Amino acid sequence: MLECDVLVIGCGPAGAAAARAAALKGAKTVVIEKNRTIGVPVRCAEGIGAYLLGKVPFRIPRNKFRWSIKGMRFYSDGLCLERTGSFWEGFTLDRDTFDQWLASLAAEAGAQILTETNAVSAEMHGDIVRTIEAVSKDRKLTIAAKSVVAADGPSSTMAEVMGFDVKRRNVGHVYSIEYSSAGCGNDHFEEIYLGDFTSVGYGYVFPKGGGVVNIGVGGEFDETRIRERFEEFVEMPGLRKKLAGARQGIEKSGPCPLDGYPKAVKGNVILAGDAANQNFKPFLEGVLPAVICGTMAGEVAAESNGMPERIAEFENRLDASLGELFAASDAAYAEMSRLFHSKVPIKHLLITGLSSGLLQLEELKSLEEVDATTLKKLLTARLNRG
Ligand SMILES: Cc1cc2nc3c(=O)[nH]c(=O)nc-3n(C[C@H](O)[C@H](O)[C@H](O)COP(=O)(O)OP(=O)(O)OC[C@H]3O[C@@H](n4cnc5c(N)ncnc54)[C@H](O)[C@@H]3O)c2cc1C
Repeated sequence: MLECDVLVIGCGPAGAAAARAAALKGAKTVVIEKNRTIGVPVRCAEGIGAYLLGKVPFRIPRNKFRWSIKGMRFYSDGLCLERTGSFWEGFTLDRDTFDQWLASLAAEAGAQILTETNAVSAEMHGDIVRTIEAVSKDRKLTIAAKSVVAADGPSSTMAEVMGFDVKRRNVGHVYSIEYSSAGCGNDHFEEIYLGDFTSVGYGYVFPKGGGVVNIGVGGEFDETRIRERFEEFVEMPGLRKKLAGARQGIEKSGPCPLDGYPKAVKGNVILAGDAANQNFKPFLEGVLPAVICGTMAGEVAAESNGMPERIAEFENRLDASLGELFAASDAAYAEMSRLFHSKVPIKHLLITGLSSGLLQLEELKSLEEVDATTLKKLLTARLNRG
């Protein structure tokens, strides 16, 4: 039996950040990761928004960012809306090396990292987790911990095992491919596309520099049909031109939790990152939110000594830090989802207007009857006003 103060399940951005934070607080910390190599396979488009960096509680050195992003372009129905300014700036990462760097910070802080170790069940006493059973390199491993952080990602099984009501109603999918030798890989703008080809989701082009680019479609797609959507997307004339001569590389697809963020504490357990839908919709921005929430989870887990009334403090810190942004994102997504499934002829233009910050949530309904030309004029006028 392995004993520790804080057990972290999963060593993605949320888990690594939680383990680092708990270890820095002096807690004996163990983090288990089911994969052999941290950060692999990559399931990400690898873009991050610079606006969140101020909330990350430690400095991320510039060399951890691969490529700078100066803004975003939104395309729908022949319209292109280019947004620049600090809110729209960001970076592209190499997620594998980024996640490995985060794990190295946890190890430097004193956390013990066990790879190829898969958590499978929990022994509970009421709401309190006494031990976690894991399979570590084909051997059974029992881990006793005072507090547990479940950071096992969008397909989290441990949250349910530990008694959380996290039944997923809306799990979307993202189909993503990395291309090399693509001219558009050297652009400094991320692009989002909405239209009939995407129906209940969006297409994206996220450049990484050096001719490398992540291209994908994401949203409320049935997993079995999403590849067809992707193929339709890359066959669009604009995309074909961008990808002329480019070579397809690795696939980076994965599930995306589209539900709102649930209560993330129970007994001596905290859920962090995608395990608790702590990400921004609809474009599933979850890397930095996972680092921010993971850090708070690790700190509270260590400070609480496993006492449920002190574990509950996580919710207060989450609310004070990202709560408003999560609530706004969840409300916006609920409206986008309604529009995706509606028969409103200009729905993709409305969602584009909302995503690009040129329309407010409250005005969407009143604009549903407007024709496409009028709405395009309104969006262009607002864009030019700045
Ligand atoms: C295709 C795609 C594109 C995306 N693009 C972006 C983007 O451009 N920008 C952005 O910010 N976000 C993006 N996201 C979202 C982002 O990847 C996630 O929000 C982020 O990875 C969440 O971090 P996490 O640590 O919570 O979960 P994860 O990164 O999923 O990490 C969870 C870890 O737990 C491990 N694990 C799972 N179960 C167990 C278990 N039982 N025992 C032990 N270990 C376990 C997993 O192996 C994994 O390493 C994208 C997601 C997808 C699917």
